Amino acid sequence: MTALDSKLQRLIRQDIQGMHAYAIQDSVGMVKLDAMENPYGLPPALQAELGQRLGKLALNRYPDGRVNDLRAALARYADMPAGYDLMLGNGSDELISLLALACDVPGASILAPVPGFVMYAMSAQLQGLAFHGVPLTADFELDEAAMLAAIRQHKPTLTYIAYPNNPTANLWDEAVIARIIAAVGEQGGLVVMDEAYQPFSSRSWLDKIRANPAAHGHVLLMRTLSKFGLAGVRLGYMIGPQALVAEIDKVRPPYNISVLNYECALFALEHADVFAAQALEIKAQRAMILEALSAWPQVRAWNSDANMILVRVPDAAKAFEGMKARKVLVKNVSKLHPSLANCLRLTVGTPDENRLMLAALKESL
Ligand SMILES: *Cc1c(COP(=O)(O)O)cnc(C)c1O
Repeated sequence: MTALDSKLQRLIRQDIQGMHAYAIQDSVGMVKLDAMENPYGLPPALQAELGQRLGKLALNRYPDGRVNDLRAALARYADMPAGYDLMLGNGSDELISLLALACDVPGASILAPVPGFVMYAMSAQLQGLAFHGVPLTADFELDEAAMLAAIRQHKPTLTYIAYPNNPTANLWDEAVIARIIAAVGEQGGLVVMDEAYQPFSSRSWLDKIRANPAAHGHVLLMRTLSKFGLAGVRLGYMIGPQALVAEIDKVRPPYNISVLNYECALFALEHADVFAAQALEIKAQRAMILEALSAWPQVRAWNSDANMILVRVPDAAKAFEGMKARKVLVKNVSKLHPSLANCLRLTVGTPDENRLMLAALKESL
C-alpha cells in the first residue's frame, strides 16, 4: 500500500496515523479457535426458517419499532430488574465507544485492569481520554490495593470490570469487586461490568445488583450475543438504572441495529434452548481440555469461566507457528502485556476441533 498523500495526512489525527488497524487473522482452511466464536451453526431446519423470516423483512424501510420487541426479549432473557432499562449496540464494541463519547466530561478518564479487553483503552484513546491500566497480579487476580489506590488517585469516570476477563478467562473475587464498586461510587464514577462470556460463566453480577440495588446505582452491565453464538450478527446490550441508560442512549446512532440484526437476535432468543445446549457442550469441552492440559508438565493452564482457555507454553511464538502450520489458528497474546509472556489463548471448539487443537499444540511445544 502506498503512503497517504502528505496533504491528506494533515487531515487525519496524528495518533490515529500512529495506530495499527485491528488485525483479523486469515483463517481460510483453518480450525478457527482464535476469536471465542461459538463453533456451532444453526441446525438446517432453523436455518431455513430464519431464511424465510429474513426474506420477508422490509429492507426498503428504516428499522422500526420491532427493535423494541428485541429489547423486551433481552430484558426477559436477562431477567432485568425493575427500574432498569436496556439499550442496544452494534456489538458491545459500539456500546464501549458510545460510553466514552457520552462520558467525555472535562478531565474524564477510563480505568481497567490489564491485561484486559483492548477496546476499553482504544475507546479512551479515540475519544481523547486518559486510560489508566492497573496490572493484575501474576496469577491474573485483581490487585485490590492497586485498584483502590488508582481509583482514589485518578477518580476515573468509567471503570471496566470484565466478568470474566478476556484474555485471562477468570472471574475475579466477588468481595474485591464489591469494594471496587463502592470505591468508584465514593469518587462519583461509573462501573461497567462486562459480561461478554455470560453463557459460559458460573456467576453473573446481575444477581448482586438484584440483591442490593442501592449499592449499584452507578453500575452498568454489558452483554453481547457474540459469544452466545451470533458473532456475525453484531448485537450488544447494556442494562442499567433507567435514568442513566436514558442519557447514554441519546448518543446512539438512531438506526444502529439493522432489521437483519434484530430479526436474527429475536429468532435466536426464541430458540434460546438450542444455544443453551451448545453452551453446555462447550463447557463440557472446556473441562475436557483443562483436564488434558493438567497432565502436560510444560503447559500451565488457568481456570476458565469463558469459552477460551489461557495457557503458558515454553515458547509461544514457536507453539503458535507450529499450530498454524498444522492448520489450527489460536491467538498469540504473549505480546499484549508483559504478564502474558509466552501465553496463548485457545477458544473452545467442537470435540473434533479440540482434539485437533490439542494434538497440534502437543506437537508444537
Ligand atoms: C468479545 C468481547 C466483547 C465485544 O463483543 P462484541 O459484542 O462482539 O463487540 C466485549 N467485551 C469482552 C470482554 C469481549 O471479550
